[in-house]
Amino acid sequence: TTSAPAGELTFAVTKNLAAASTAQREEILRNPGFGLHFTDHMVDICWSEKGGWHRPRVQPYGPISLDPAAAVLHYGQEIFEGIKAYRHTDGSVHTFRPDRNAARLQNSARRLALPELPTEYFIQALHELIAVDGAWVPSGEDQSLYLRPFMFAKEAFLGVRPAKKVGFYLIASPAGAYFSGGVKPVRIWLSENYARAGKGGTGAAKTGGNYASSLLPQAEANDKGCDQVVFLDQHRHVEELGGMNIVFVFKDGHLATPASESILEGITRDSLLQLAEDRGLTVERRDVSLDEWREGVASGDIVEVFACGTAAVVTPIGALVAEGFEDVQPLGELALSLREELTDIQYGRREDRHGWLHRL
Ligand code: PMP
Repeated sequence: TTSAPAGELTFAVTKNLAAASTAQREEILRNPGFGLHFTDHMVDICWSEKGGWHRPRVQPYGPISLDPAAAVLHYGQEIFEGIKAYRHTDGSVHTFRPDRNAARLQNSARRLALPELPTEYFIQALHELIAVDGAWVPSGEDQSLYLRPFMFAKEAFLGVRPAKKVGFYLIASPAGAYFSGGVKPVRIWLSENYARAGKGGTGAAKTGGNYASSLLPQAEANDKGCDQVVFLDQHRHVEELGGMNIVFVFKDGHLATPASESILEGITRDSLLQLAEDRGLTVERRDVSLDEWREGVASGDIVEVFACGTAAVVTPIGALVAEGFEDVQPLGELALSLREELTDIQYGRREDRHGWLHRL
């Protein structure tokens, strides 16, 4: 089970002899962008039905060799996570609520019929990678090292059933400030032709297929001059964006966010809502219909709408655009103030009163 302590794995470490030089690394860290550059090493843990989790390794970053019949290539049995490491001014490196990402990976694993990686192994993998690639955690303002754990079916078998051989991997990519020149409100396209998830589907899992199916609506959004897509469910309740959760701020001081079972439970959202509650605000996790959104903005009851996720933290929504209308959204102070409070905690500039940081 995942609740029993899994103990410690002993990782075999193979150093990358072709690792980037200090000068090369520093050049990349000056302006890393997002998802473009990768650190020198990666973690790899095997799983098999017979042997469980085994062969934990830290090895040079590089291609993975797969049998062409590997199940992931045919049936998409794959899940992943996204979490960051932050450098504090004293040089130490911390990550944020890694137990939550470990639990979400386990949740995704159950839905995709993959084995659950124990929380201890997940967190140990982060430690092992930072132990060799810690120099890749940038120290510039709003910079971080984005950590990408993922797991997929590698058994060579064309029958449709859960694979008996699986790999867990962890790679890392330095990330620059998401918004250069200040946080800017985004335009959101309302996807009416496409759904992200359905009842009983995989919406609550972080699995590749959800993102593959978001690419066409995202392209439609870009065609319409928008940055991101917002999806509805079959009852025209708001779900989430392609890669971020959504929060509504009301004039009376309460916040509301969709409680749907087909969205990804964001760790950023959970944390921001906790900070809002700490400030005495009321948080409601409930259905929010498109009508309530549009009418609330028109009447002035809704005073701010923002999106949130690990990559961009908080993004105010400046416009909701659809076939036939364009609703300008009110901009307020709360989204950016919560953003600042959360990033202050993550970068060690403010007391971590909830014990969210984990030193790597
Ligand atoms: N929804 C989706 C679909 C996402 O991909 C993400 C990013 N992981 C989120 C919400 C936000 O989750 P988190 O705050 O944990 O990054």
